Amino acid sequence: MTQTHVPVIAIHGGAGTISAATTSAEQAQAYHDALKNIVAAAQAMLLKGASALDAACLAVELLEECPLFNAGHGAVFTHDETHELDAAVMDGTTLAAGAIAGVCHIRRPVRAARAVLEDGAHVLLAGAGAETFARERGLEMVEPSFFSTEARRQQLYRVRGTGRVVTDHEGATMAAAAAATPSPLDEDKKFGTVGAVALDMHGHLAAATSTGGMTNKRVGRIGDSPLIGAGTYADDRTAAVSCTGSGEMFIRVAAAYDVCARMAYGGATLEAATHAVVQQSLPAVGGSGGLIAVDRHGNLSLAFNSEGMYRGHARGNEAPLTAIFA
Ligand code: ASP
Repeated sequence: MTQTHVPVIAIHGGAGTISAATTSAEQAQAYHDALKNIVAAAQAMLLKGASALDAACLAVELLEECPLFNAGHGAVFTHDETHELDAAVMDGTTLAAGAIAGVCHIRRPVRAARAVLEDGAHVLLAGAGAETFARERGLEMVEPSFFSTEARRQQLYRVRGTGRVVTDHEGATMAAAAAATPSPLDEDKKFGTVGAVALDMHGHLAAATSTGGMTNKRVGRIGDSPLIGAGTYADDRTAAVSCTGSGEMFIRVAAAYDVCARMAYGGATLEAATHAVVQQSLPAVGGSGGLIAVDRHGNLSLAFNSEGMYRGHARGNEAPLTAIFA
């Protein structure tokens, strides 16, 4: 196996507003530790020659299983106090993609998205049909309560009382919420999507994203995460991108695809392309959040216009780096 590229992995665990509550060093450390361990697991795979697609899927699966992040177990609630999960994966080599939306029984949504990609007949399956497909594929199914945590339920009650869907970092302060929250980013003003992008040693790119969506969202609402081109995109000729933020705005500006298009059509560098999308296109429509992206040369961009974004990355066999704030 010829190693021609230094592999790169990057992950995010959502973007958001710094909590008004004081965050203890221990609390922040829990996030750093989780991010670091997950980056290290994907990094080890890449160093053994695994594909970018496998590494990105593994990282997202581990993030889904970690209750600190709002995807899989720990997902947020809809207005009706239910869960509706979305996920997507994309292979930059073939432009093959798979996604599922609005599911509530699939334990690891990213695995179902991967199964849709591998099946190849469709790109996006939603609701009951997606769940039937996952069942047929032998994926682990759970009761919706598996995803529930008390903290998320209380979060819904606070947000529902305001009549808002939490898509606005600049919205009303929810101090009570912050006070009860042990997370560096204010749980009520944070986007909890998780995602990963990878470049493997064969020069291939992949992206994966998974989310519980937005707290207090209307039942049936689908965000940017499972929409190829909006929250997730990968193309070996340009970059792999996974987004987190106010999904409606990411959909409207085709955020993930726009990064790649700026590179392909305008010759923009990854840095310039992500900066334009995150600091110009998204704010122009009121979009808040960020994205992680890696290009075919291994350049990395972890960009956000919110106060913080849980993130981590590793290049080659270098020690993983993690960060929460700017
Ligand atoms: N982008 C996600 C959505 O709109 C939310 C998030 O990033 O946490 O569903």
